[in-house]
Amino acid sequence: MKAVVFREGAQWAVEEVPRPTPQEGQVLLEVIRTGVCGTDEHLLHGGFIAKLPLIPGHEILGRVAEHGPGVTSPPIGTVVAVDNTIHCGHCEPCLTGRALFCENFVSLGCNDAGGFAEYVAVQAAKTIDVAGMDVTTAGLAEPTACAVHGADVLALRPGSDVPVFGAGPTGLILAQLLRASGAARVVVAAPTASKLELARRLGIDETVQIDRRDPDAAEDALRALAPKGFDAVVEATGSTAVFELAVRLTATGGTVLVYGLAGEDATAKVFPYEIFARELTIKGSFAQAYAVQRAVAILRSGAIRTEGIVTDIVGFDDFGRGLVNLHDSSQIKTVFEPTRRAS
Ligand SMILES: [Zn+2]
Ligand SMILES: [Zn+2]
Repeated sequence: MKAVVFREGAQWAVEEVPRPTPQEGQVLLEVIRTGVCGTDEHLLHGGFIAKLPLIPGHEILGRVAEHGPGVTSPPIGTVVAVDNTIHCGHCEPCLTGRALFCENFVSLGCNDAGGFAEYVAVQAAKTIDVAGMDVTTAGLAEPTACAVHGADVLALRPGSDVPVFGAGPTGLILAQLLRASGAARVVVAAPTASKLELARRLGIDETVQIDRRDPDAAEDALRALAPKGFDAVVEATGSTAVFELAVRLTATGGTVLVYGLAGEDATAKVFPYEIFARELTIKGSFAQAYAVQRAVAILRSGAIRTEGIVTDIVGFDDFGRGLVNLHDSSQIKTVFEPTRRAS
């Protein structure tokens, strides 16, 4: 079969590789589409938990093509979203209910074969039937699961006033999820006007445009919306300047959620006295665990809308554009479809 393969030295190519044989407990999926994500770029450069060479692609939507030994469901032909994580079940974090930190963590598309291929083998138990859902919505199950985990971590109090910094796919999905989870008002703050417009179309209450190089310039506009600060502030950009701003804009007793991926060596300035005297809480949210099922349920409910989020579709011939799009501020989410021919 054909697959995209990442190799050492930030090299990648479309290669002919053996089609996987589903093992015990697995099903073979014919890939329908797989989302291209900023994480893929980190993996290409050997970052995150990359195990190269690698068939990347962790946001997988597929059709069940073959059962491994002992597997009877889901039936052949079922269209499924995939929880791409596998936890060992016997390490200390797994045994203490913190599977996200499994010491033997496997993430399809990160340290084992993923969905930028014609076929991928996945755990049958980690597939979620998406019958009746449109491909765009079902294809966003994995990034939505990360947002569900973010909402789990944030544990927002109903009635909260919350800005989300960042209007990428995760920001747009998380903002809607927080609105649906009891926030009284959600504000999206981001640099690109068209993305703010989309946020408003998707039901976000307020938007504030920020300058990518000088996010502090938006501080007054944000403060005017909430003079005493916001109950919770979500940093979904990975920018340390935005993180510092988020801390300043958090109301006394409030919470900052670090949801964006900053550089591993990035540092930010916060004042311990402020955390002490204003009883601020700083939380982090990374990936997801046990959230794909709920992500599909909430996408199915319509509480998170997806129109306008997928802005480009690539195939094997033009896969490189999917990586280039990660740096194009007019793009939101690119998806890969193995059957797509270059246009
Ligand atoms: Zn992703
Ligand atoms: Zn484990």
